[in-house]
Amino acid sequence: MSPQNSSAEAGVAHLAGDGSAGAGAGPAAGDAADHVRIEGLSLRYRGRDGSQVHALDHIDARIKNREFVAVLGPSGCGKSTLLRVLAGLILPTVGTVSFVGEDGRSASDLVGLVPQAATLMPWLRVIDNVMLPAKILKLPRQPARDKAMELLDMIGLKGFERRYPRELSGGMQQRVAIARALLHDPKILLMDEPFAALDALTRERLSVELQSVWLSTGKTVFFVTHSISEAVFLADRVLVMSRRPGRIIAEFTVPDARPRGIDHVSPESEEIAASIRTVLERDASQEWK
Ligand code: ADP
Ligand code: MG
Repeated sequence: MSPQNSSAEAGVAHLAGDGSAGAGAGPAAGDAADHVRIEGLSLRYRGRDGSQVHALDHIDARIKNREFVAVLGPSGCGKSTLLRVLAGLILPTVGTVSFVGEDGRSASDLVGLVPQAATLMPWLRVIDNVMLPAKILKLPRQPARDKAMELLDMIGLKGFERRYPRELSGGMQQRVAIARALLHDPKILLMDEPFAALDALTRERLSVELQSVWLSTGKTVFFVTHSISEAVFLADRVLVMSRRPGRIIAEFTVPDARPRGIDHVSPESEEIAASIRTVLERDASQEWK
């Protein structure tokens, strides 16, 4: 990437809302290592009957290249909405998302999405599920197949290529979904509570595996969760969102070295987890006032 990029320059791909002030109106060019910039982002869903749901309110965030950012917030606060905006699936009402150093590349090219439920196609074998993005993006078949085999090996599913999703456990299905999201080698991995439906032990094991996938692939990761311990274990930085309309009300940097062990909780990360809980409780208590 070009270290001198500002949001007004070439080399920055934009997703902008109609009401956006446009490129160049945001803050001055920031950290050279920014990969994603979210500026002044608000989103209102509009129903056909004229009703509105104010989902996101003035979100500003920067994600550095290869950074692991976790977004934590109560149910319904707009986390999935924010992820869908980053994935280019919906446009914000106001504000911009910029991918720095990604001249003209589309969001579908840049991001891989791991949804909350694995959403595998039940009639396709594991290998064909992983290769699905290649079909959609019309990538050459053989290199995509080689890549799919490599990814299945990386996530510990070698030998399961020809199985059907129903023959796999929930944790294995979610690993297939991670492999599928990585197939087109996206630079940014967006994960929407990917382990929420799994039992606690599987969840921990997959968190550790995700950490090693992230360490070995060098992706920029944006990880949505409502689990404080998961966020603190996985992330370099945790963004805490308020109740709807979602705003970012706090941010914490987790200093622990990598690789982190699931059973080793440092005093610093314990303190961060306690502070996050306080922020969320304070925000929740506003509701009852
Ligand atoms: P979270 O992922 O944090 O649980 P969501 O982003 O899914 O929250 O939803 C935020 C708010 O927007 C919720 O009140 C939800 O009901 C509403 N919402 C989500 N999707 C739509 C939609 N397509 N149309 C209208 N409202 C929506
Ligand atoms: Mg959600």
